[in-house]
Amino acid sequence: KKFVYSFNEGSKDMKDLLGGKGANLAEMTKIGLPVPFGFTVTTEACNRYYEENQTIADDIVADIFEKLSDLEHVTGKQFGSVENPLLVSVRSGAKISMPGMMDTILNLGLNDNTVEGLAKLTENPRFAYDSYRRFIQMFGDVVMEIPKTKFDAIFDSKKEKEGCEFDVDLTTEHLQDIIVNYKKLVKEEMGRNFPQEPKDQLMEAVMAVFRSWNNERAILYRQLNDIPGSIGTAVNVQSMVFGNMGDTSGTGVAFTRNPANGEKKLFGEFLVNAQGEDVVAGIRTPQPIAEMAEAFPEVYKEFTRISELLEKHYTDMQDMEFTVERNKLFMLQTRNGKRTAAAAVKIAVDMEKEGLIDKKTAVTRLEPAMIDQLLHPKFDDAELAAAERLTKGLPASPGAATGKIYFNAADAVAAVENGNPAVLVRLETSPEDLAGMVAAEGILTARGGMTSHAAVVARGMGKCCVSGCAEIKVDEEAKTLTIGSDVFKEGDYISLDGTAGEVLKGQIKTVPPELSGDFGTIMQWADEIRTLKIRTNADNPRDAKQAVDFGAEGIGLCRTEHMFFEEERIPAVRRMILADSEEERREALSFLLPYQKSDFKGIYEAMGDRPVTIRLLDPPLHEFLPHTDEEIKQLSAQINVPYEKLAKKTEELHEFNPMLGHRGCRLAVTYPEIAEMQAEAIIMAAIEVRKEQGLDIVPEIMIPLVGLKKELADVKATVVQTVEKVMEREGVKFDYLIGTMIEIPRAALTADEIAEEAEFFSFGTNDLTQMTFGFSRDDTGQIIREYRDKGIFDDDPFQSIDQVGVGQLVKMAVEKGKATRPNIKLGICGEHGGDPKSIEFCHNIGLQYVSCSPFRVPIARLAAAQAAV
Ligand code: ADP
Ligand code: MG
Ligand code: MG
Repeated sequence: KKFVYSFNEGSKDMKDLLGGKGANLAEMTKIGLPVPFGFTVTTEACNRYYEENQTIADDIVADIFEKLSDLEHVTGKQFGSVENPLLVSVRSGAKISMPGMMDTILNLGLNDNTVEGLAKLTENPRFAYDSYRRFIQMFGDVVMEIPKTKFDAIFDSKKEKEGCEFDVDLTTEHLQDIIVNYKKLVKEEMGRNFPQEPKDQLMEAVMAVFRSWNNERAILYRQLNDIPGSIGTAVNVQSMVFGNMGDTSGTGVAFTRNPANGEKKLFGEFLVNAQGEDVVAGIRTPQPIAEMAEAFPEVYKEFTRISELLEKHYTDMQDMEFTVERNKLFMLQTRNGKRTAAAAVKIAVDMEKEGLIDKKTAVTRLEPAMIDQLLHPKFDDAELAAAERLTKGLPASPGAATGKIYFNAADAVAAVENGNPAVLVRLETSPEDLAGMVAAEGILTARGGMTSHAAVVARGMGKCCVSGCAEIKVDEEAKTLTIGSDVFKEGDYISLDGTAGEVLKGQIKTVPPELSGDFGTIMQWADEIRTLKIRTNADNPRDAKQAVDFGAEGIGLCRTEHMFFEEERIPAVRRMILADSEEERREALSFLLPYQKSDFKGIYEAMGDRPVTIRLLDPPLHEFLPHTDEEIKQLSAQINVPYEKLAKKTEELHEFNPMLGHRGCRLAVTYPEIAEMQAEAIIMAAIEVRKEQGLDIVPEIMIPLVGLKKELADVKATVVQTVEKVMEREGVKFDYLIGTMIEIPRAALTADEIAEEAEFFSFGTNDLTQMTFGFSRDDTGQIIREYRDKGIFDDDPFQSIDQVGVGQLVKMAVEKGKATRPNIKLGICGEHGGDPKSIEFCHNIGLQYVSCSPFRVPIARLAAAQAAV
């Protein structure tokens, strides 16, 4: 088996094995672009490293050295040679890119001897020693895990002592002094000398990259992005090119289109006389890429050509890294660029217009989860116009953020946990700030460019970010932010406009967004492509209308219990529950009837002629009663029922397992008059709206929590009798459907019988998951988190349907239901109806619709289209 591939042996389709970076380096090599030669140690080698107790097997070591000698051959240089030393970078790269989360080491191969050789060869001692000190620093940090700050302290104190303002002001001698002190530091920290043998350096570095796969921030990043830990990282070993060889050299990062707003224009930054890490780490603020046209006109032309070629080759926006060594351009990386939702939408629509991709591909270019960003609020125009602008930085990631200032990740996380919206303010962001960035509404930094790690990560998360804000002073120790004469402390409000890059004073109101322009276009394409219908879960006209605005095609679940809680009604609901006789109960119910009727009318009106599924009362009755003694006393006075009676009734209704108790259709079996009232309200509302609005309403009445055909038949009989009676009384006749939820495993197992009574099934996958796993959905959050941490669950089964178990039941019920009633209507109304992975599953097993909360409707439309592609 092959564990190591040279760059000319791979291609872009080998991401699983070579990682994204390795596969694309191979691809660029294949199509003849200038890529420094090298080789890739595969992700399988990484997995073996972990299987074999964090060691690299001899056969893999041998393969590595074989490819190393090929590399020496191709470059004409030798590892460890003084005359012509080969230097390499050792770069991580998983299948899915995780920018900045793992480690990279540059200039490997330098030691006390080869550095002199390099100095002589290049006639540039300053460059040679600068490279060596960088190497010790990176190796010390990544491989030896010596705190970076200790190296920085040595470096900064030298700079200060010699009166150098910038790194480039340090002379060869200064750098040599720094190296001596770096090596001393290594000896002190590690009790051993800095390794001088390049092959040892190489193997240690390869292992360190494998190790970095499991560093804290990489693990957190994977959790946030649903990347499995089992895929491992590849390691790329690549001959070095040098951007730090003086003013004809440099390094940069660029996107073929603007990753924040999608504009079709080369976008990026570069630094003269610098090595790659300098750009991404935000140490010096780089120059915009366009200025390269003046600094390196020939190289700029070549780079423009290559970036256009790459975008066409990959048919997607590319994020590229490059280095210029003495006026010669080298490509070091390309990948499909991360982008904001707004940019994703514009780029997809533009590329379709340009003929680069078709509509089907275009709809796959927007991750459904990213749509959330587009549905997020924006600043209220008037308030924004009136707000005081404090300063301007770079518009690193668009959006609107308002919150209290916090100066480090831990404080921001704590604040958010206590219910305070946070804006994370940092001098410069580093990958360690990830948890704080996740928690915060937005991020503000003093340093760092548009392509700093933080900006990239913020865009990926859809977090508002303003970076490189040169005019602000951040004192992380004292926890103060100074802008001009304003001094802000921890907890003060500030607002960020990530789209304009502006920092604004105080709190600013936000407003909901609209679905128009390019977003509207993509959604229209999605609608043309998908076959699943999208309904919504709504139980009031406002939500129903919102959902229709977002493209809902019906209501899949209208819960009726929320309506019972309203202030004027709850006394009647309680009287109904407390009634001693059927007569009393009917009396209370008749008070509720007109309310229910008007609820349903409002919903029918909001939905027009779209279908509406109304579910009969579902929760245990005791949810409507008070629980504490105090509350019982209060209520007793309020509704004039003796305290003892009330307390006794509450006691009687108490259940140990209410979710498995007196609820769902069981209520209607024991108190048919409740179902009668609801059925009458549903039909009367339909009659009136049909008359008043001329709408052709076909009510869908849904009976919950059925496990037995006979209990469904019992409730159905009650409903049918009521409906027929009402229709006769009113002298009308129209179609209506009676169906059930499939949410008890027994119902799924006997779906063929149940379908004899049910005209439709709606899968209630929340309860079905709860009952199939025996996991209480209200109590097991913490257990599920721990299960996920331990890898027992990949996903929370309440968020993404468990396809193997719960999904199996759904599939079985679909087949059995269809066998009995071929034209049975099938849909899903659990939370899973808004989850892209679950939607794909629903599509594949032949459901006709999914139903989700209004704000998830656009996500569901897109996910349904992607499932159909
Ligand atoms: P990341 O995944 O964090 O972007 P990379 O492996 O891409 O890490 O390395 C970071 C930077 O180091 C690159 O952008 C590039 O500028 C520089 N670099 C890596 N390998 C080389 C090389 N062989 N020659 C010159 N610079 C390199
Ligand atoms: Mg890295
Ligand atoms: Mg990179």
